[in-house]
Amino acid sequence: MSNADLWARREAAVARGVGTMHARFTSHAKNAVLWDVEGNRYIDFATGIAVNNTGHSDPRIVEAVKDQLDKFSHSCYQVNPYESYIALAEKLNAAAPGDTPKKSIFLTTGAEAVENAVKIARAATGRPGIIAFKGGFHGRTMMGMALTGKVAPYKIGFGPFPSDVFHAPYPIDYHGVTEADSLNALDAIFKADIEPSRVAAIILEPVQGEGGFYAASPSFMQSLRSVCDEHGILLICDEIQTGFARTGKLFATEYSGVEPDLMTVAKAMAGGFPISGVVGKAEVMDAAAPGGLGGTYGGSPLGCVAGLKVMEIIEQDDLCDRANEIGDLFNKRLTALQAELPNVIGNVRNLGAMIAMELVEDGDANKPNAALTGALVKAAAENGLILLSCGVRGNVIRFLPALTAPTAVLEEGLDILATTLKNL
Ligand code: PLP
Repeated sequence: MSNADLWARREAAVARGVGTMHARFTSHAKNAVLWDVEGNRYIDFATGIAVNNTGHSDPRIVEAVKDQLDKFSHSCYQVNPYESYIALAEKLNAAAPGDTPKKSIFLTTGAEAVENAVKIARAATGRPGIIAFKGGFHGRTMMGMALTGKVAPYKIGFGPFPSDVFHAPYPIDYHGVTEADSLNALDAIFKADIEPSRVAAIILEPVQGEGGFYAASPSFMQSLRSVCDEHGILLICDEIQTGFARTGKLFATEYSGVEPDLMTVAKAMAGGFPISGVVGKAEVMDAAAPGGLGGTYGGSPLGCVAGLKVMEIIEQDDLCDRANEIGDLFNKRLTALQAELPNVIGNVRNLGAMIAMELVEDGDANKPNAALTGALVKAAAENGLILLSCGVRGNVIRFLPALTAPTAVLEEGLDILATTLKNL
């Protein structure tokens, strides 16, 4: 089986709407390294878009899932419930930011978690409005797209979208948007578009993921909390890309000391098993009537046991500390590379192991170089390194290495990055 054969079959059999970055088909993967069907080896700095924080195929997760498969693969929590769902809820409730008692539900994908958070917020407040942020990404379902603050490629041709959704600018100093600008824009939405008494929730990513790895400051998070408290609006933190030790804390919201009313989680929560969740203040979570939430596969037993194991591994292997170490290592190496290539590399930043490097023209932060970013992703893959780009301007390389990756493998990947970029 060759990559070229599989690409030809893909072209004939799979709808083109599911974009595919590389014509390199995975054969197997172990911790931070991945092999394609032709035996080529790649260091994986993408981790399936922030999913394999615990590496590929950690034997502890594999064993837990195999054990579960031997017992039963599915019984539907809504029909014949099982203990692992409750145990995972207990763990997540205890781990979520803040002291207010929590409850959880489990779904299958991140977008579904977002949908359910919005449903719960509307049920709890009896209000229609949702405010999200420009540049934000919340998934590809109808409400996910409505909330998503970037049009291309996610929303083209798919409207109309659910109503009563409004967008404020996300504060990115670097793009000339201050926290005051964002808060003023919220006020303007309250005056021009929807009264605050009709807003159910404000949703944000504590660090924008697809939008370009921009972190909201603790003071902005606290200001949002105050706005929400003043008007009886619920605060939803979308931790789908930031959660489970990626940023050096279990959840990025912890950096602000803010307690969200609802939080969405997915991706890294089960090391690759499709499960997502909403965790929030018990009183809010209980607003929806029985039968209103859930789904056939929501909180599958395989996802639940994998999720429990991931939480255990994060503690056992000190993955929050490791994320900070990895962030420091990347920051040091990327800053050194920037000194060598000042015309090409713009801003370098990280929150734990959520690491970004911008590519620019003429060393000018205001001249994003999306073409070079695309070329780097392609050329790096040819040299054995899987990278991902992101950002509203298309010029951010985001690094999401496995938190279990040995330092030598990370250094090897960074060497490939440097050589590739220098040769472009
Ligand atoms: N929310 C955020 C912050 C995300 O990063 C993503 C996916 O990238 C989603 C929601 C949607 O998750 P999924 O692709 O699992 O539906």
